[in-house]
Amino acid sequence: MSPHPAPLVSLVGAGPGDPELIAVRALRRIEAAEVVVYDRLVSDQILDLVPAGATRIYVGKANGQHTLPQDEINDLLVKLARAGHRVVRLKGGDPFIFGRGSEEAEYLARHKVPYEVIPGITAASGCTANLGIPLTHRGLATGVRFVTGHCRNDIDLELNWDSLADPDTTLVIYMGLANVTQIAERLIAAGLPPDTPAAAIAQGTLPAQRLCRSRLADLPRVATEARLAAPVLIVIGRVLALADVLAAPVEAPGLSDDRTRTARHG
Ligand code: SAH
Repeated sequence: MSPHPAPLVSLVGAGPGDPELIAVRALRRIEAAEVVVYDRLVSDQILDLVPAGATRIYVGKANGQHTLPQDEINDLLVKLARAGHRVVRLKGGDPFIFGRGSEEAEYLARHKVPYEVIPGITAASGCTANLGIPLTHRGLATGVRFVTGHCRNDIDLELNWDSLADPDTTLVIYMGLANVTQIAERLIAAGLPPDTPAAAIAQGTLPAQRLCRSRLADLPRVATEARLAAPVLIVIGRVLALADVLAAPVEAPGLSDDRTRTARHG
């Protein structure tokens, strides 16, 4: 039994996709769930952990339709909890990083529904670590910033480009693929060197994971030509130079050092 008793609603981080990367407490809650409310980012492999008897409610986008509006998701969670169900609200990555989990938590708190938040490995750390890319490294990056590259209706991104164009900071851009041209151009215009290493990681930690690397100036072309399947994370910074050296070992005990250092990315 978990030392932490479950309240009625658990906002659970499902991590970047690989089911082995969720927290022990997350797994316990999923296994005890009566109702699971999930969205598009939650991988099929994670959904396989949901007990057969639990009700699954999908609230993500499908076939061009819109996601269930956020206020309806909030309402749904409160209604399910008030009906006495043990609810797991599964969200990709970490529920409190670009996931609107905090809006759900706020709503639950306001309606006096007991809830908990179980953190997940956010895409920034899951996708990069899996490829041997550190987010910070002495001499290469003194910090890291997580930024949203999404903007409404294709208007200009409202980001502080001058502060983001810092060669000593690793930049991780969520939801940025559609605006990758604007992102690269603005960063370069703000002073980030055009040959700063950059990458787009698609479906990180999943079997179909792809890594696309180039210099910052070429990233829009390279990432577009690669026709990457969502979700895609953009990483910019000198730490990417380490991917060749630190690429994740393959899971094969007993292999020589050389072979265990084989990179999984193509
Ligand atoms: N709460 C999530 C982020 C939600 S925003 C988290 O903490 O990771 C959705 C964005 O996350 C996607 O557009 C993409 O940029 C990124 N993302 C999430 N999972 C990913 C994955 N497996 N591979 C690549 N990018 C991912």
